[in-house]
Amino acid sequence: MNYYSKEITNLINELRRLPGIGGKSAQRLAFHIINMPEEHVEHLAKSLISARKNIRYCKICCTLTDEEVCPICSSDRRDHSTIMVVEHTKDLAAYEKTGQYNGLYHVLQGSLVPSLGKGPDDIRFKELEDRVRDGLVKEVILATNSSLDGEATAMYITKKLKPYNLKLSRIASGVPIGGELEYIDEVTLSRALDGRIEL
Ligand code: ZN
Repeated sequence: MNYYSKEITNLINELRRLPGIGGKSAQRLAFHIINMPEEHVEHLAKSLISARKNIRYCKICCTLTDEEVCPICSSDRRDHSTIMVVEHTKDLAAYEKTGQYNGLYHVLQGSLVPSLGKGPDDIRFKELEDRVRDGLVKEVILATNSSLDGEATAMYITKKLKPYNLKLSRIASGVPIGGELEYIDEVTLSRALDGRIEL
């Protein structure tokens, strides 16, 4: 039974599709939006559409960006011989926040999930191997999450990149087991990077 008008119900249902938004949160957000000044709502709607339309994957590191090549990959102040491999753009953001890392990144846009049959073709691994094959890369730092899937991903990449002549390292413990990178504080992240272990 619907307690609300069709328009409100529609809005609540759309909001509920978002991750982490349950029925109650969706209702709260819907009523908040309805009470916002009309121009704010228009601005919000336009930002959503524009972001979806204009954001794409960087041609080099596969992070989400609004340019063909992201600002990190196109910067000549970064060390182009080191690549840190992370699962998501939000992990890249977490490392950028530490200000301690000056190399480039590679964003896999996910991890292997052996239990669900998600394999190497489902992540941006081929793009990483292409970059390594170019021969300009001297070190690859594996900074996937320390969850089972993150570890499986790091192991797979290690195996595949071993034949190339480069230093492979894994970020140190300090990142708790099962830890999602984005929730870990900057000091811990910096330490994990400094204490990385050569594979
Ligand atoms: Zn990039």
